[in-house]
Amino acid sequence: MTEQLIISSGVRRVIVVVLDGLRPDAITRFGLQNILRLARNGASTFDARTVSPSVTAAAMGSLLTGAAPSHHGLESERFHIPRAKGALHPVAHELARCGMPSSGFMAHVPWLIRPLARRIARTLGLTTVRFRGNNATQVLEAARTQLRIQDTGLILLHWADADRAGHEHGWMSDAYGQAAVAMDRALGQLMRVVDLSDRSTVMIALADHGGGGRALRHHNSDHPADRTIPVIFAGGGVRPGTLPAGISLLDVPATILALLGIPRPASYAGQSLVPRGMMASPPAVPLAAASAA
Ligand SMILES: [Zn+2]
Repeated sequence: MTEQLIISSGVRRVIVVVLDGLRPDAITRFGLQNILRLARNGASTFDARTVSPSVTAAAMGSLLTGAAPSHHGLESERFHIPRAKGALHPVAHELARCGMPSSGFMAHVPWLIRPLARRIARTLGLTTVRFRGNNATQVLEAARTQLRIQDTGLILLHWADADRAGHEHGWMSDAYGQAAVAMDRALGQLMRVVDLSDRSTVMIALADHGGGGRALRHHNSDHPADRTIPVIFAGGGVRPGTLPAGISLLDVPATILALLGIPRPASYAGQSLVPRGMMASPPAVPLAAASAA
């Protein structure tokens, strides 16, 4: 069981930034100042575990459903609508039942697969989805208005710069380092857009997997370099400190719900890091939203 460091009070909004393919040791190696600052001011570990297989589709599926890949069914690099083994309770659905929106911002995808990407997003319950931009800064640009107007629920940003450079040039290569710096710069911009001294918003930054473990240009293995990820919680209501090594990406969705006052569904494989008794009071559910859910 994990030591519990996250304290919530009055949290209404959670912003999740997925730093695709960012190895924890890249943070110090390439001097990623904004990530280091976020970690220092928040509760963090650079020794968390991602899911198996350590690929983006599986990890994103887990982040958005709370279920392990063997349960939600996305068990390869391929994005598709899988047949889940048992009931799923996507984070965004749980939020919607409490009248809270969820939005996702990802890089541009080829128009041929855009309908599928939209269908996956809808299946996962995201109310607003944009596939726009080629890099972290442009994805952030596309999310700027939403960041201003959506003051409750979940906003998810997915940045793929480091993963792309890792596949092309190898993990921890110079090009990979430059991509990691670009993601760090975008995080700095995000930290200027979002006021983290405002206790109503918690920001979570994490990677979906590492890379360069068994193979220099890949990340799908049980090697620690592929499986180890940074996880940082920062912002309103989070007490600065070190999260225990070995927490899982699967603990993040349960924690997102807890921060917003929503109980953990039984289908979730991970545990909330919010201490029991510290959960936000359950949100007032607008009747219309409750009946529509
Ligand atoms: Zn990849």
